[in-house]
Amino acid sequence: MGKIYQIAIDGPSGAGKSTIAKLIAKKLGIDYIDTGAMYRALGYKMLQLGITEDNLEAVEELLKTTEIDFSKGDIILDGTVINDLIRTPEISMKASACSALAIVRKHLVKVQQEMGEKKSVIMDGRDIGTDVFPNAPYKFFITATPEERATRRYKELTEKGETVSYEETLKSIIERDYNDSHRAVSPLRKADDAEEVDTTDMTIDEVIEYICSKIDE
Ligand code: C5P
Repeated sequence: MGKIYQIAIDGPSGAGKSTIAKLIAKKLGIDYIDTGAMYRALGYKMLQLGITEDNLEAVEELLKTTEIDFSKGDIILDGTVINDLIRTPEISMKASACSALAIVRKHLVKVQQEMGEKKSVIMDGRDIGTDVFPNAPYKFFITATPEERATRRYKELTEKGETVSYEETLKSIIERDYNDSHRAVSPLRKADDAEEVDTTDMTIDEVIEYICSKIDE
């Protein structure tokens, strides 16, 4: 068995992190872990149960009784596949809100560290290179302009049949950028040793080729 390594992919919402990470995982034959999906799953459960971010006692209890896992590319919440249920604008905002809670981050970061210690992984999120795997040998910070990210997200949502406007999508991207980079706990920032890749004018294939050219496992 080869050496275990981690590839950290961070950056703002809609920069294409998950699309890129998924394809690189396939190419390298390693596991892909979508940490945003974990915050989304928790946000989804909080909405279902009517738990708000100010009720820390309920959130703490929820964390103890919630199981979030991945299997064959599916995200599983307490034994149920919830892939599509967590990809709505409402859940995006709820994930961003609950991810600002220190107890939530502490818990999910620990789960993520356990996932990436036993096998090689490519993990995407906001704090992978800074907090989850600060010693990861490969770190990339993927960006694109807010307008380009909104265009991509709008296309993705409308192709799935969601009724949203481009303006709403751009507003939500800007709002989440602000929340994610201004929260007190683990704000979104590039790790000092991460390489920034601006994908505004790059195709997905170009980004993948570029990142893979830097990986020498
Ligand atoms: O990446 P995605 O848009 O699915 O993430 C949903 C939300 O979860 C983000 O807006 C962010 O607030 C939060 N998140 C986070 N840390 C991560 C991954 C996601 O705070 N590692």
